[in-house]
Amino acid sequence: MVAKGDMIYAWAKDADILKAGECGGAVTALLKHALESKMVDAVVTVKRGTDLYDAVPAYITDPAELIQAAGSLHCGTLLIPKIIKKYINPTCDQKLAVVCKGCDVMAFYEMANQNQLNLDNFILIGLNCGGSVSPIAARKMIAEKFEVDPDLVTKEEIDKGQFIIEYDGKHKGVKIDDLEEEGYGRRSNCRRCQMKIPRQADLACGNWGVIGDKAGKATFVEVCSDKGAALLSAATGKTVAVEAANPKGIEIRGKVENAMLKLGDHWRKHDFEKLGTGKARLDYMIKESSRCTKCYACIESCPVCNCAECSTKKSCYVEPGVLPVNPMFHLIRFAHVFDSCINCGQCEELCPMEIPNALFMHSQQVEPLLKELL
Ligand code: FAD
Ligand code: SF4
Ligand code: SF4
Ligand code: SF4
Repeated sequence: MVAKGDMIYAWAKDADILKAGECGGAVTALLKHALESKMVDAVVTVKRGTDLYDAVPAYITDPAELIQAAGSLHCGTLLIPKIIKKYINPTCDQKLAVVCKGCDVMAFYEMANQNQLNLDNFILIGLNCGGSVSPIAARKMIAEKFEVDPDLVTKEEIDKGQFIIEYDGKHKGVKIDDLEEEGYGRRSNCRRCQMKIPRQADLACGNWGVIGDKAGKATFVEVCSDKGAALLSAATGKTVAVEAANPKGIEIRGKVENAMLKLGDHWRKHDFEKLGTGKARLDYMIKESSRCTKCYACIESCPVCNCAECSTKKSCYVEPGVLPVNPMFHLIRFAHVFDSCINCGQCEELCPMEIPNALFMHSQQVEPLLKELL
């Protein structure tokens, strides 16, 4: 019997899922059990689209199709809860099991606070997350730093601090620290992210702390809720095999998490210092934001931007059809979103004008300008 707080190594019993999974396929096997046992009506996962830089959301009701979504796509930068709300389950009346990075989990909670989603309808299978790389940035990095044609790459992974690619039967790995010093690597919001093990999910799954003969062949599962315990208990012996996590592995996982949190602190300091302080910071943000074409991608994609009537569309604040955009457009967003911004990076990832929106909003949250200017 599994209970909240347990630390477990888990892997798929099915040989095909074991092979296709990133670290033994436990996540896919858990999702399979959730569907087969009708604990949920459907599963939302992420699968490969046209190539490995193209991660697409998948809504799956047939357990046999789950294997197509096995494996980790480190260039997958989707934010799942907003996609569910908008496209998959707008009425939120289905039971869904969903795979979630830390930013997905935070978005679930923020959206639930705003009554956009009902958490009772979800089983959240959290994935530890060291960070993701934007698809276009990944292609550029592989061409320039790895000197490999990005279209030849058949697999990418992040392991022991390296970004590793497989191509033409060969391997090449470069240290992420080195890549990031030269401006490549993870998205800037991911570098600043402090949600490495998503314990707000029902289960937190990852490869950190899996040692010994299970290294690379099992997933470390931290059981974070009774709902998570119920799923893992029910799946054990059916789709999933388990053993208690190695105590040394638990210790190592804790050390890696702490090191990642320190790295997040380093990047916060680094990125925020570059923005200047006080009025100079505000002026810089307004100047950079003046490139905006008011396409609304940042608003549409933001999990905490959900007003029925958006103030940026009111002509008394922002005159329609006028460019450059009135700074009020961005000031309204700062004022409305900064206190609940989860630093998911969507507003930056999808901005066609490459405005560092997430950096600006995240800096407001951590170091509010208003406080400094008063
Ligand atoms: P599988 O059975 O292979 O299932 C993996 C599930 O992940 C599938 O359902 C798939 O749809 C989903 N998925 C794949 N890509 C994404 C994506 N981009 N966003 C959301 N869901 C996705 N673990 C660590 O311990 N440390 C890390 O630093 C770490 N970084 C990660 C970074 C990313 C971007 C991702 C996606 C995962 C990361 N993981 C990390 C988790 C780890 O890679 C495995 O996903 C986990 O151990 C489960 O392995 P598995 O074999 O049980 O999963
Ligand atoms: Fe992972 Fe955090 Fe980046 Fe989300 S914001 S992809 S949880 S590192
Ligand atoms: Fe994510 Fe940007 Fe919204 Fe913050 S403002 S929650 S980074 S989309
Ligand atoms: Fe402006 Fe970029 Fe937002 Fe579009 S996504 S409205 S260009 S800031």
